[in-house]
Amino acid sequence: MSKQRNILLVYTGGTIGMMKDPKTGALRAFNFDKLLKNIPELNLLDCKISTQSFAKPIDSSDMNTEYYIDLVEIIEQNYDDFDGFVVLSGSDTMAYASSAISFMLENLSKPVIFTGSQLPIGDLRTDAKENLITAIQIAASYINDIPTVPEVALYFEYQLYRANRTTKINAEHFEAFTSLNYPPLATSGVHLKFNKEAIMPYNKKVLIVRKILDTNIAILKLFPGITKTTISSTLNIKNIKGIIIETYGSGNAPTSIWFIELLKKAIKKGIFIINVTQCSGGSVTLGQYDTSMQLKKIGIIDGKDITTESAVGKCMYLLGAKISSKDFKSVFETSLRGEIV
Ligand code: ASP
Repeated sequence: MSKQRNILLVYTGGTIGMMKDPKTGALRAFNFDKLLKNIPELNLLDCKISTQSFAKPIDSSDMNTEYYIDLVEIIEQNYDDFDGFVVLSGSDTMAYASSAISFMLENLSKPVIFTGSQLPIGDLRTDAKENLITAIQIAASYINDIPTVPEVALYFEYQLYRANRTTKINAEHFEAFTSLNYPPLATSGVHLKFNKEAIMPYNKKVLIVRKILDTNIAILKLFPGITKTTISSTLNIKNIKGIIIETYGSGNAPTSIWFIELLKKAIKKGIFIINVTQCSGGSVTLGQYDTSMQLKKIGIIDGKDITTESAVGKCMYLLGAKISSKDFKSVFETSLRGEIV
């Protein structure tokens, strides 16, 4: 007989546990226990479920990096006692949170599965139950005492993705997330099918929890007509240390001398500038066109096929880890948690 697994369900907030405020009609987070009472099906699962909730559940729009630390501390404190973790959170910033947390949990060897829903769990047509039940089953899936998914992943609408490869693509459809540059880790249909080749290999190392994130970063999205003032103001933000620049196509940007000179000056000043494509899928290929050759020459960091969400987490994490200026570029360009090719 297979061993019964212990799963910790952590509720941070989000639609899944929200109810309509009778006065305003707006959705608001409410008591987590009430949420669970709406899901008697949980008793049918072949695992032991314990729960923990943020003292004050929040909409994920308020989920800043301090909450990421709270979350990794909950995982750290309970790591030895549980076989897997399911994090219930709002979907709006879930790709950011789960990406950052993948960097914060070094040598992770247990499943940490994020999920949420587009409709509250109490809604008749809710997508919450399937998302929650399958996320728990994934977190509890072990073969020969080895977890099937020993990494941070995100489950939504029949697909399990590597968290740091995801993007929220739809505010309305149940299929709210995608991972255009990496295949699903599992697909749920009549059977739960794991894509073993895509899943991170199991490791026996000791978990290291990284709790320092440096938020002195910015995202600069290019658009035709962007002014020198806009670019220069961003590059000169007080205390700025890293800038994710969302370029066109395969990493292309204007060739104007003023533009290249501004970036060059910022890089010389010690600001790390990361080139990420503003396309939803595909990769930066520095030097493929003339329009990215200059960027390559001035030492811009190649974001490769990273998502913007993941680049934000990775940048905060590497700045927090105080990686030296000499090594920052090569470390950023290396896959740390499977976030790039
Ligand atoms: N606004 C909600 C949140 O992100 C939406 C959701 O739960 O999916 O917290």
